[in-house]
Amino acid sequence: MSAQEEILSVAQIVPVTEAEGPGRRFALWFQGCPLRCPGCCNPEMLSFEGGQAIPLSRIVHQLDEAKTQGIEGITLLGGEPTAHASGAAALARSARQRGLSVMVFSGFTLAELLHRHEAAIDELLSLTDILVDGPYDPTQPDSTRRWIGSRNQQIHFLTQRYHFDESWKQSNTLEIRLIDGILTVNGFPSRSAVGLWKRPKPRRSLPLANSSDS
Ligand code: SF4
Repeated sequence: MSAQEEILSVAQIVPVTEAEGPGRRFALWFQGCPLRCPGCCNPEMLSFEGGQAIPLSRIVHQLDEAKTQGIEGITLLGGEPTAHASGAAALARSARQRGLSVMVFSGFTLAELLHRHEAAIDELLSLTDILVDGPYDPTQPDSTRRWIGSRNQQIHFLTQRYHFDESWKQSNTLEIRLIDGILTVNGFPSRSAVGLWKRPKPRRSLPLANSSDS
């Protein structure tokens, strides 16, 4: 590991998924988001504490393994990828060098991101094929565009590589994996099930010694 190597703050990686954008993709969720959209699907990824600090080279190694399983690109989510722009851009660069496409979900709008004039964000955008932007709004659930949470969010095709084809009009899917005792869930559940498996169990008050169930 070189002294300058990027260390990414990672909440979750799913090396091969079909539930986070077109085709098979390597999906990485960053740990930490400055926004607080009501109804956020990933509340455990909001804090900048926690997650795993993973060197870029290790992630790229996983990416190379995933490439042998036919992925066509990477998807960066969170958390908020642009709050980790330097690491996100470095990973996007590695993906592009391997001929892979790059899709990014951001809670900020494209206009907001451009207005910031931050070099790392600008670089990430320059390496991005598809940007889905804007905060999640639970009052505007999107049932017509696959992979998109709410109707206010816009899809920006920043290169010629993709366009709005039939794949965007299919039903959403949910993927559940249990690997080495670790459960991962990704994709889009039905609205009523959003966050169900991540919700902290309600605290049960202990019965008083002499109390009886009524
Ligand atoms: S931007 Fe995404 S991760 Fe951040 S609060 Fe909104 S929905 Fe949650």
